[in-house]
Amino acid sequence: MPPFTPRNLNSITDRNKRHINHWSSTMFHFCPSCASPKIRFEDHTLFRCPDCGFVYYHNTAAATGCIITTDEGILFLVRAKEPSQGKLDLPGGFVNPAEGAVEGLRRECREEIGWDPGPDFSFFASFPNTYPFKDIVYNTCDLFFTLSAPGLRKEDLRLDPEEIAGIRFVPPVQVNMDALAFDSTRRAVQAFIEREAQPQLV
Ligand SMILES: [Zn+2]
Repeated sequence: MPPFTPRNLNSITDRNKRHINHWSSTMFHFCPSCASPKIRFEDHTLFRCPDCGFVYYHNTAAATGCIITTDEGILFLVRAKEPSQGKLDLPGGFVNPAEGAVEGLRRECREEIGWDPGPDFSFFASFPNTYPFKDIVYNTCDLFFTLSAPGLRKEDLRLDPEEIAGIRFVPPVQVNMDALAFDSTRRAVQAFIEREAQPQLV
């Protein structure tokens, strides 16, 4: 099945631009190179210092999430820390330098739930997100994958208590979108549930 393509392909709206500018304007008050207070944020992407020429691109970070389907429902993780502590998230996280997306997702699964899902993920969809952490707002490009693991049980998983406060297996029809931690996750899970509800072409 081909990956999901959202109908609204505008990746950055005027509202998003305003938010990015607002958050980013609080990141640096002085140039990290020459300490000039004139450093400014330009084009929704970069910091430039007019005094010394310092340029820093606040690039989008790659992140992953996986919709793992089991006999008991979709596997969700309860976040143990901010942002969105106590809300539900998918296994996944930031892709590290020198890592591919699938490699990063496997590592996150091993770290978060003590389970190696193997490499057989299917790419599903991508949505943008923002991730505020310790006074910095990271803009992420979230890559969502799917994986079928029918026999996966709670007993197969070893949770990292610093990251994960618990797990839930939720049947697709019972997913409460308001309980999900991030906008991108809501969009991906919603799209997945809608796709699964479609009659399958053979
Ligand atoms: Zn400077």
